[in-house]
Amino acid sequence: MNGISGRAIWANYFLKHVASGIDPRNGWLNGLRVRFLLQYRRYALPFRGPVRTAHGVWTVREGVIVRLEDASGRVGWGEAAPVPGFGPETVEEEAGFLSGMGERIETVALDAVPPAMPCLRRALGSACAGSAADKTALPPHLPVAALLPAGKAALAMVPVRSEAGFRTFKWKVGVGDAADELVLLDDLCALLPEGARLRLDANGAWDRRTAERWLERCAERPVEFVEQPCFALRASQVGGRLSKEDDLLLGLAGSFPTPIALDESLAGDGDVERWIGAGWPGVFVVKPTLHGDLAGSLVQLEKAKASVVFSSALETAVGMQAALRAAFAWREPTATKPRALGFGVAPLFADSRFDGPLAAPFLYREDVERLNPEAVWNALS
Ligand code: MG
Repeated sequence: MNGISGRAIWANYFLKHVASGIDPRNGWLNGLRVRFLLQYRRYALPFRGPVRTAHGVWTVREGVIVRLEDASGRVGWGEAAPVPGFGPETVEEEAGFLSGMGERIETVALDAVPPAMPCLRRALGSACAGSAADKTALPPHLPVAALLPAGKAALAMVPVRSEAGFRTFKWKVGVGDAADELVLLDDLCALLPEGARLRLDANGAWDRRTAERWLERCAERPVEFVEQPCFALRASQVGGRLSKEDDLLLGLAGSFPTPIALDESLAGDGDVERWIGAGWPGVFVVKPTLHGDLAGSLVQLEKAKASVVFSSALETAVGMQAALRAAFAWREPTATKPRALGFGVAPLFADSRFDGPLAAPFLYREDVERLNPEAVWNALS
């Protein structure tokens, strides 16, 4: 099944993308259907240094860059970059599906992309959408969170990052002994400049008791939120319903004043729906690259007046540009100022040609627009 033709799919695509994307009417010329040119390039890019995740050490980033050219010569870009451990999707399967679609296609049928490939769907959606139409109301810049190393090494970095202008700091916890890390928390807080805040990310490492100890301690401290204190299950693992692990997170969120953020619990669209349905009172960490129907997820979050932190999935400049466009278009519903972006990850790759904007206290929209997907594409040839 290549799923690339059919009147219904064409109509669906037209309805979905005529407003913001490549105009499907360009596909018609003198009564003849002129096709899109769909190309892709796979990549396997070594990180500058190994990335430690909850699922082990990650050394090489794999993904696919998608290039879509319409009949008028307009080019759109997308990146399918699944994160190991966040879902079942593989780059191998994505490349297989793309190769099945062929180079000359009549239309881009997002609904024909298998539900198990949200990253590929996102890549194709992004290639269709191009850049946002109306940018006048968007903020010129957004704050970025500084990443601190795990453990004691964080102490030396806080003054350096403060000096650079960062006011939000993210520290990985659950890496060493909890009692040692709790002592370090006080040392870290003492180093924070006036008005600064600390995000803690446990990557699901704590059990209930440890999480409770931390949340008690955080209550009186400048902690913006605690990210994924306990283990996550995803919609696909629990048939779309809440599990007892999810109930634990809900219980913690209801018992302590420091907000809890869901990260690993949100692998994609189904999870956003599930947690909104459960009335999640905390923060949603959205990695746009992992959401097959990103626009749909964001509409749901907006309706629920949810608080969102946009975060990198360690993608190249192509995916980062698309992800950051979504971040700039978002409005925090209740906060007086936007939450800092989780995009302070570059330089990320051994070959800097693939990097998005370098980590800095503020990310400027004009720098996002200046990112050049074609340069990434050419560097892969
Ligand atoms: Mg996280």
